[in-house]
Amino acid sequence: MGRWVLHLPVALPRRVDAVVLVVALRDSLGHVPALDFGEATVSAEDDQSRRTRVWCDARLGGGQRCELPLAHDGGCR
Ligand SMILES: [Zn+2]
Repeated sequence: MGRWVLHLPVALPRRVDAVVLVVALRDSLGHVPALDFGEATVSAEDDQSRRTRVWCDARLGGGQRCELPLAHDGGCR
């Protein structure tokens, strides 16, 4: 199956606001299997080559992936 990446501009003042929106989208749409929120990234609109991940997304075994924020404290879960 092919994979595509949605580039969806949002009008928000800061990176943290964009991350809050991505978290809200995951909370409401995380049940849709086609959406891979673990690999979500954010960037400034005028600097899209410098994207940063939102979540840790480390592979935990058994098909599970860490759902904690990037660079979180403590162990993955
Ligand atoms: Zn983790």
